Amino acid sequence: MINTLEAPVKSSKVTIATAWLDGCSGCHMSFLDIDERLIDLAPLIDLVYSPLVDNKEFPEFVDVTLIEGAIATNEDLDKVRHIRAHTGLLIALGDCAVTTNVPGMRNPIGLKEVAATAYGSLEALPRVGLPTLLERVQPIHSVVKVDLFVPGCPPSADAIYYTLSELIAGRMPDLSGRTRFGA
Ligand code: SF4
Repeated sequence: MINTLEAPVKSSKVTIATAWLDGCSGCHMSFLDIDERLIDLAPLIDLVYSPLVDNKEFPEFVDVTLIEGAIATNEDLDKVRHIRAHTGLLIALGDCAVTTNVPGMRNPIGLKEVAATAYGSLEALPRVGLPTLLERVQPIHSVVKVDLFVPGCPPSADAIYYTLSELIAGRMPDLSGRTRFGA
């Protein structure tokens, strides 16, 4: 089990979660692009929560959670706080999680103006049964502590595989030279 950022601990099975906030799913697609190397990871990890698996309840404790996307709604805020409270090591996966990237493009314009352009007015914004949009889109680290940043739009499958492999081996990944912002 990996129990702290400072001292990742080598163990036989690492529990992994992935979550998707305001993003395009491209970072999850890159995760899947690990391809056959997922078979190498399979005996070493338990994927306990993810859009890619059935479990809809975030477990009591997860060793490593990778979060894609920025925080754009009240639901995202609740989700990221809950995940942080139940995760050992939190990874901001991709530029949207790290900087807000594409979802953050509405920030300089303002929610009112964006809503007016799309729906005629802020009041006309659909709300029933939907999360409430925040005034400003925020990166993950502005709300909760992030232990590791993996930039890229999306981060490459190689970078994601390297990150997971290092953590599984009980080491903190050194991502210098392996990731960059943008595609
Ligand atoms: Fe999509 Fe890029 Fe954002 Fe990942 S970082 S969710 S690929 S826009």
